[in-house]
Amino acid sequence: MLQQVNGHSSGSDAQGGKSLREDLQEFLGGEALLHELDDLTKVNPVTLETVLRCLQARYAADMFYTSAGCTLVALNPFKPVPQLYSPALMREYHAAPQPQKLRPHIFAVGEQTYRNVQSLIEPVNQSIIVSGESGAGKTWTSRCLMKFYAVVAASPTSLESHKIAERIEQRILNSNPVMEAFGNACTLRNNNSSRFGKFIQLQLNSAQQMTGAAVQTYLLEKTRVTCQASSERNFHIFYQICKGASVDERLQWHLPEGASFSWLPNPERTLEEDCFQVTREAMLHLGIDIPTQNNIFQVLAGLLHLGNIWFADSKDEAQSCQLMDDAKCSIRTSASLLQLPEDPLLETLQIRTIRAGRQQQVFQKPCSRAECDTRRDCLAKLVYARLFDWLVSVINSSICADPDSWTTFIGLLDVYGFESFPSNSLEQLCINYANEKLQQHFVAHYLRAQQEEYAVEGLDWSFVNYQDNQACLDLIEGSPISICSLINEECRLNRPSSAAQLQTRIESTLAGSPCLGHNKLSREPSFIVVHYAGPVQYHTAGLVEKNKDPVPPELTRLLQQSQDPLLKVLFPMDPEEKSQEEPSGQSRAPVLTVVSKFKASLEQLLQVLHSTTPHYIRCIKPNSQGQAHTFLQEEVLSQLEACGLVETIHISAAGFPIRIPHQNFVERYELLRRLCTRTSPGSHSPSPDEGHSEWSPHTKGATLQPLLQDILHTLPALTQAAATPGDPAEATPVPVHCGRTKVFMTDSMLELLECGRAQVLEQCACCIQGSWRRHRHRKQERQRQAATLIQAAIRSWLARKHIQRMHAAATAIKRTWQKWRIRMAFLASKELDGVQEKHVSQVPLPLGSLLLPQAQTSLLEAIIRLWPLGLVLANAAVGVRGFQRKLVVWACLQLPMGNPSSYAVQTAQEQAGVTSIRALPQGSIKFHCRKSPLPYADICPEPSLHSVTGFNQILLERHSLGHVSYSDLTRLSN
Ligand code: ADP
Ligand code: MG
Repeated sequence: MLQQVNGHSSGSDAQGGKSLREDLQEFLGGEALLHELDDLTKVNPVTLETVLRCLQARYAADMFYTSAGCTLVALNPFKPVPQLYSPALMREYHAAPQPQKLRPHIFAVGEQTYRNVQSLIEPVNQSIIVSGESGAGKTWTSRCLMKFYAVVAASPTSLESHKIAERIEQRILNSNPVMEAFGNACTLRNNNSSRFGKFIQLQLNSAQQMTGAAVQTYLLEKTRVTCQASSERNFHIFYQICKGASVDERLQWHLPEGASFSWLPNPERTLEEDCFQVTREAMLHLGIDIPTQNNIFQVLAGLLHLGNIWFADSKDEAQSCQLMDDAKCSIRTSASLLQLPEDPLLETLQIRTIRAGRQQQVFQKPCSRAECDTRRDCLAKLVYARLFDWLVSVINSSICADPDSWTTFIGLLDVYGFESFPSNSLEQLCINYANEKLQQHFVAHYLRAQQEEYAVEGLDWSFVNYQDNQACLDLIEGSPISICSLINEECRLNRPSSAAQLQTRIESTLAGSPCLGHNKLSREPSFIVVHYAGPVQYHTAGLVEKNKDPVPPELTRLLQQSQDPLLKVLFPMDPEEKSQEEPSGQSRAPVLTVVSKFKASLEQLLQVLHSTTPHYIRCIKPNSQGQAHTFLQEEVLSQLEACGLVETIHISAAGFPIRIPHQNFVERYELLRRLCTRTSPGSHSPSPDEGHSEWSPHTKGATLQPLLQDILHTLPALTQAAATPGDPAEATPVPVHCGRTKVFMTDSMLELLECGRAQVLEQCACCIQGSWRRHRHRKQERQRQAATLIQAAIRSWLARKHIQRMHAAATAIKRTWQKWRIRMAFLASKELDGVQEKHVSQVPLPLGSLLLPQAQTSLLEAIIRLWPLGLVLANAAVGVRGFQRKLVVWACLQLPMGNPSSYAVQTAQEQAGVTSIRALPQGSIKFHCRKSPLPYADICPEPSLHSVTGFNQILLERHSLGHVSYSDLTRLSN
């Protein structure tokens, strides 16, 4: 089972589950390659967990851009990465045949929009919506995109047009520091937080060269001029003039070194944005000359001094509040810097003018201290807001092209992201309302893109069940009754109403809305709106006042009296304007509230966006401390929620978040076919989406079709098996669709498939284990038998060898013995022949021609008996001579010892005793006692054979025969 975000399992299950999950993850996406996945929609399955892990892996690998379908997710590196924005890289993306095939990058988005414009395919105009939390990198991204277009949209053929394009580009780029100086401030979240929304329209001519641009701003946070949260700062420009002004300018603007201003908190913090010179140069490039600049800064200095005006409580309601002592100087300085008469200025702040009655009679009423402060703040806000708008108009006039000179545009929307603070008011309501609108636009676009993908895959699927944020929008802006209409009504009726009354009114009138909530624990009157990015509690106190944004007409009239050239421009004596300002007083004409103005401009913006092809860049801050190399999952997750990525994931989940190519699907789930054969042999249930699966025989996947169909046929059986008893599983369709190249399925189906796979694998494992055990047993048995056989064979071989050796030895002995016997016989006969020749004249018969008579046989036996005598004598120690020798010979010859004189034993040499032993022909042997055989007794039977010196020795040393090799024996025997 797939784990949910932050889901943990425990014990051994966790181990097993983990490895299974890793295996599945490897199959679906490959954990090791997670950082290489440059599209979040390709992570499998598309869940928050995998999306987060993918982003984290990429951030760790310094890959800050990731696609998410039609959105680009940009992680803030919080460190300089110059190579990521080099002109060379811009050109690379511009020159690439398919920039979307390169790594995801804002330049890829930029180039895509540019090519879309070039293609002239409707809608030709493009828009890039950059959103994200404060500090996430929206302004940075917009700036980089502008630089990109300045490079790529400036290749004109003629020198003249080249110069124009260059000038426009330079002006567009120069508008950034000016707008950031006047519209950005240091907040808790971002040192350079844009406190306004901005839509820049880059205008292109028919040759797609930039000819001009236009800037539209939304909802400047003008309250920041007079009121800053602790640890936050006012707009950068105030600090720039205080820190960067020259000595003369300081004198001129009454800004002495070290002067303190209540509207200038935390001046000691020096930021890189506090660069006065850069702002001045940019203004100069935009056509704002030095005197005008000085004029602007003088007015701003006047506002700073205005902030130091404090009133004391009046003792009497009829009396106006008096200035605090140290404020007297400030009002004088402020009046002189704003070129206003001092007394009317003070009077306007202290006294309210009321027109009443049919004749519009004028009444004057001293203000309370709080009212005086409000009027002072209102004056400053009014001046600053007009100044900002004027700057935007100046920028526009310097960069805007003649309407005839451009045909297409690329819009860049740098919009504030979804905001939720402990205390939220009208500003947050407007910002979140804008985000809801943009989210609806995004979801519509995303759904369209999703449906297109399904259509390409041949799937007929519509998100009819998907609920977008229309209910929330109805609550905020719906007709006839909504939060906006109720707040506007309060302004229109101009009736005194408390915050609690407004809360009750909202809750009672809009009680039916599913997106309206109430915090029972809250002590302050409030209501909760459940936005797509989460619930936000809005306090009703001051809501109506802020919505009215009342500008007392006497303040405008006062400013119109100013002699300052800039203020004269900002507050002209225009009868039209006069009539516009009047109604905010007591006139019954429709009130132009902040909400209604904002709503109108939002409608206008959305109209523009609807007429363009949108591209989305979601900037994400990996941590709120602005630290490089730190990725905090919780913070990223909340931003993914706020920028609607989570929503798109849910949309994706409403469809088929799992998409597996046919090949991979077959490879992994082919074994499920076994399950089918086992569970329902012969049954062939219909394919889950036979109606939808279409394959072209020419497609690569065509060969997979039979396998794929087989697997898909197993699915109904799988779902049936998984269904609880009594659950009509058959009624529910199998949530799998087979596209042209991919199989689409839900998470639950993937789980089922995995379960089925695990089941088959388990069965296979059991089968393999059984087979293996059987095989091992058989093998052991065979080995045992073979060992017995080998042992028997070796034993028999050894025995045979032994016998062969013994046999050879015996043969050798026998043969040698026979040889020796023949030779001895031959020698004896030779000896006898010599003697006979003297005594008997007889022709010797050939050997063997005569049979030995009985007497001769006994003689042969005597010879044999005498043989040891030869041996004894031959081996006798030296010195056996004389009588000893005779004794031996007698013993051997078995002669009677009685009368030694009757026998004369003589050796051959001595010519005494046995004289010869003769072998007669045909085996007959004659024994001649006169001749002794002794002279031959020591003759070796085989005198010349190698180391064997004599047969006697062979016999004596026969124990060593065992060591003689068979070959030796054969040689011996030969
Ligand atoms: P936002 O406009 O969303 O409030 P910014 O664009 O002002 O945020 O970015 C805040 C800060 O983050 C910048 O001042 C810059 O230091 C850093 N930053 C943002 N994007 C990048 C980037 N791509 N590379 C380096 N630093 C960046
Ligand atoms: Mg910004």
